[in-house]
Formats: sequence, structure tokens, C-alpha cells
Amino acid sequence: MQISKKYELVKGKLILTNYLHGKALWQQVATITDSALACGALESIPTHSEMREVYCAETTISFQVRVVENLRRKSSAVQQRARQAPNAKNFNPFLPYEPALYVGELTDHYRCLLNKFNVVDHHLLMVTNQFVPQKTPLDTEDFLAAQRCLEAHDGLVFYNGGSAAGASVEHKHLQMIPLPLSAECSFPFDGLLSLSAVANQPVSTGLPFSHRVVATEFTETTSTTEFNKAAETNCNNYHRLLTELNISANNHGLMSSHNMLMTRKFIWVIPRSKESYQGLSVNALGFAGMLLVKNEAQLKQLDEVGCLELLKAVSL
Ligand code: AMP
Repeated sequence: MQISKKYELVKGKLILTNYLHGKALWQQVATITDSALACGALESIPTHSEMREVYCAETTISFQVRVVENLRRKSSAVQQRARQAPNAKNFNPFLPYEPALYVGELTDHYRCLLNKFNVVDHHLLMVTNQFVPQKTPLDTEDFLAAQRCLEAHDGLVFYNGGSAAGASVEHKHLQMIPLPLSAECSFPFDGLLSLSAVANQPVSTGLPFSHRVVATEFTETTSTTEFNKAAETNCNNYHRLLTELNISANNHGLMSSHNMLMTRKFIWVIPRSKESYQGLSVNALGFAGMLLVKNEAQLKQLDEVGCLELLKAVSL
């Protein structure tokens, strides 16, 4: 069973809502990708990849550096839409969302869209159906949405918690890109992180920045109770990592900046100090060994700084 049906009361009327999951979700991602490409709604950013090998704690980490061939497409399209918005300051690309990028409803609180300016194929956005600030603490609902996408396809779910963590949109969203990241390497930090995740307690990974990792409770069960229980466990574990890292909410209930990465194997949290270093921007994907630079000049700059040094400079 791939689609759950549920009646909801909307404006005094009972309507039928379908929640997508499993194979049906992934099929819908493929279908909407084709139609969004055909109508020009999907504005994929063309890049070429370069590999950089970094030696750390007796392990070689392969960074995949994507060099943008023309970033103007993204920035001009975003600026154009921002200008069209009645109130540019409150411009929200997810509410309303572009219908051509709509994949479907995931849960009571989350829907799935395609990332309009994707670098890798099938880059999904999980966005809340009502406005919620991005830095509001992640709860079980967020993990339920993440699990729905991870169940549909092996992937890397990530959260850019705040502008200093690489977020550009204020409306709460998680993202997922499919794994493996490349033919050569599924997930470059796997080796270093697995050890710590299995130990289920702080273990030195040798990485030169503050972080914590825990094993993911991953289940493909058809039982809603078990699925919800897994989301609760993952959420509790994530909050334990936040506490260990001294990441807490301010007086407005908003968390300090951090990235969260989640695969079927582990959940990884990294506190952030800043969004960029020497003009080189980093979001959660940087901590998955995927860096994006705007041009060849920035690639040269990155080579001078070093991939791991860059991650160290933007974290704590
Ligand atoms: P972040 O930058 O981490 O906050 O993620 C927000 C993502 O939303 C970015 O990767 C953008 O490419 C993407 N985005 C911007 N505008 C739209 C839009 N209208 N529809 C779908 N995705 C969008």
C-alpha cells in the first residue's frame, strides 16, 4: 500500500487527502521532474565536478566540488520573483509554491516539492504546509517527513538551520538528494562516522570541527505506529545531540544555527558559526563532502583554503 487516504475538514467540507509514500512517492518525483523540465519550471544549475582527496584520521575523504557554469540563471530568476512579490521582504517561494514543482502531500504537516534550482537530479524539498520559521526546533513531524522520503529512496536528508547554516528561505524546510552521491563514492564521511554512530556515544572521529553522530532508527514498516515510534526515537536522539553540542533555543524559541544530515544509517549534527569563509559558501551538503563554487576563481580559492579547513572555518 503506497498511498494513504484520509478525510480532512476544510472550510466545513470533508475532502479526501492522499499521502504519498514508498514507490508511489518516487514515481511521482520522476513524473513531476519530467513535466517540470518540459514546461521550464525546473531551472537546473549546470555544473561540472572536480574531485579533491583529503587525508584525515588515517582515512581519505573524497570531496566532490561542483563548479557552476552559469550561476546568473539562479540569481536572476530568484531576484525576478522577489521583485514580483507584493512584499519582497516576506517573499516566500513555498507559500504559495509553484504548482509545476508540486509532488504531493507527505504527512498532515508536510508537502513535497522539487527544488527549482537543483544541481543534482531529484533534489526534493519537504516544506511545511503552513508557515513555520526555519529555526523552530525540529520535532517528530519533521522526522516523519524525512523518513517518508528516505523510505521512498535511499538518500541524504539535510537541514540548513538558519542563514549561518546556509539557509536562504525562512519557511521551514528539509531537503533530500538521492544516494549514492556519485558512482565512485556513496557518502564520503561514512567510514569516519559509522564508528561513532555504532558506539552511540561521543567518539573522536578525528574531524577538525565540533559535531555529534548517532545511528538512525530506519524502518520500512507498513505499521504507522512503528513508523511514528521510529520518528520519535530519531527526534529524541537528535535533541540529545543538540544538548551535547550546547545548541539551544533563544528567547524567541529559535535554535542557534546548525546543520543536520540524516541517512538511513546515521544522523549527524554540526553547529555553525558562519555561512561562508573567504567568499566560499557552505551549507549542510559541504559536510557530506559536496561543495559548490561559483566559478574557476572560487575553485582556486578553495584549493588555497582546503576543503576540510573550509568546513572547520564555518563550524565551531
Ligand atoms: P535553502 O537555501 O537551504 O534555504 O533551501 C531552499 C531551496 O529552495 C534552495 O535550494 C532553492 O534552490 C530552492 N528554491 C528557491 N525558490 C524556489 C521555488 N520557487 N520553488 C522551489 N524551490 C525553490
